[in-house]
Parts: sequence; C-alpha cells; structure tokens
Amino acid sequence: MSIRVIEQVRAMQAWADKVRREGKRIGLVPTMGCLHEGHLSLIRLARKRTDVVVVSIFVNPTQFGPTEDFEKYPRTFDRDQELVEQAGGEIIFAPGVEEMYPPGFDTSVTVARLTKGLCGASRPGHFRGVTTVVTKLLCAAKPHVAVFGQKDFQQAAVIRRMVRDLNLDVEIVTAPIVREADGLAMSSRNAYLSPKERRDARVLFQSLEKGEKMVRDGEREASEIIAAMKTEIEAKPAARIDYVAVVDAETLEPVTHLKGRALVALAVWIGKTRLIDNVVLEEK
Ligand code: AMP
Repeated sequence: MSIRVIEQVRAMQAWADKVRREGKRIGLVPTMGCLHEGHLSLIRLARKRTDVVVVSIFVNPTQFGPTEDFEKYPRTFDRDQELVEQAGGEIIFAPGVEEMYPPGFDTSVTVARLTKGLCGASRPGHFRGVTTVVTKLLCAAKPHVAVFGQKDFQQAAVIRRMVRDLNLDVEIVTAPIVREADGLAMSSRNAYLSPKERRDARVLFQSLEKGEKMVRDGEREASEIIAAMKTEIEAKPAARIDYVAVVDAETLEPVTHLKGRALVALAVWIGKTRLIDNVVLEEK
C-alpha cells in the first residue's frame, strides 16, 4: 500500500473520524522531517500499539527563535515518504505554515513550570511553540496514542503535563534514544556537522557516560558530576556548553544530592550547531 499525504487539517480530521468509526486505533508520530532511525523507531513503536499510524512532518516556525535555524532546517520530503512507508506508517500529515497558522491566528498553549529550565531557559518561547503545535496536531489527527522520543526529554515531560492538565484524550508514549555506533544521539541537525565537528560531537555522549560512571562509582554530589562533565566537554575546541544539568526526572528541578530518578541533561554547541542529549539515572 502506498502512503497517502494529507495537507489540510479538515481532510486529516475527516480521515481520522472515518478510521475511528471503523473501530481502528490511530497512532501519531509528530516530526519535523529529515527522518532518521530515531524517528523510524517511534513509527514502529506506534505501529505496535495501534492499527494505523500518522506521521506528521511540519517544520514549525513558532518553535524556532528569531536567530535560529528555521530557514535552513533540512527538508527531505521525498526520502521521508519512502522511510515512513518502510517503517509501517499509512499517512503523512504535512500541512503548510498557512494551513496551521492562518491569518489572525491568536492562541497558544503554555506549560509554565516545566518549561522554565534546561532548553526552556536557553530557547525562550520554544516550548510555547511546541505545545501549541502539538495540541493542533492532536486535534487534527485525533490519535489514541502519540509517541515522542526521550532524546527530547523535557519536551516529552511538558507534553505529558499538558495532556494531563487539559484532559486531552490521548496516551503519550515515550521511546528510548537511538544512537549512532559511536554513541552520538541521532538528530536531523547532525547533518550540519563538518567531519571534524562530527568527531567532536561524540563528547556529548562521552561526558554523559563519564557522569554515569561517577554515579556507579558512588558519587552523589551533582556539582561534582557537572564539573567533571564540563571539563571533559571543554577539552574539545569546537564545543561550547549551553548547559549541563542534573535535575529530578519528574519535576525537572535541579538536585544537589542524587536520590531517586534523576536526569542528566546537556546542550552543547558544536561550532554553529546546538545538540542535546541526556541520560536517566535510577538511584535505589
Ligand atoms: P524532530 O523531528 O527532531 O522534532 O523529532 C521528532 C520526534 O522524534 C521527537 O519526539 C523526538 O524526540 C524524536 N527523536 C528525535 N531524535 C531521536 C532519537 N535519536 N531517538 C529517539 N527519538 C528521537
């Protein structure tokens, strides 16, 4: 079966209504395209949990800051179509910017506390863009299940909160981070890296591994872990730290002494490319 591309919200809703009347369960995987194995793992997971999978491909302008990479974000629609089909998706929902934000558009959805720190602190307005567009995508595709990657841990936490707070009738599922052979988390933005930067980019995962090892060896002070990770990252000339943080995995508030489930998260510039990664540590 070949894939169907839907560009209009109304047509997406009509398809979802029909499929729901047939008693089928819908899965949604929101993406900005330029698909890689990370995205495909989400599609496969959605397919396991539902009967039909919609993959949205929308480079959402409202989640990019004025100096960020919206214009040059990689767009590879033809290849994406093939990959969605291979991974078991049925529909690509690919609305244009005007379709999602027609003239006069004036509403946004905000999650307050969870968006204060981490990426929210360095990218003002980013999460408002994300929560607003995800709400619109949920209203368009009417999924039973929506799948998000742990790679964007804060995003998944914010969306879970929003779904709970607004009583949205959808189950949010998160999928593990898919990595390259050398540990670098897959990301559409890895395409920006020069060969030398690509090598330096390994330091994100290496520093997370270092932090993990310190904890395994008994270290519990977040400041010690953060300092050691920063030293490792700063040794790479192309790397510039945005943040390295140890936070509670539920509240995303900084922790000083490790206890329970903690998230070690970082954002690092490699040249002109900002990359993120994280690991969850379970303390017994
Ligand atoms: P994006 O297209 O970057 O907005 O990502 C779309 C979805 O794919 C988000 O839920 C991301 O968290 C998820 N994702 C991106 N990269 C990865 C990865 N390496 N492993 C797992 N999920 C990912």
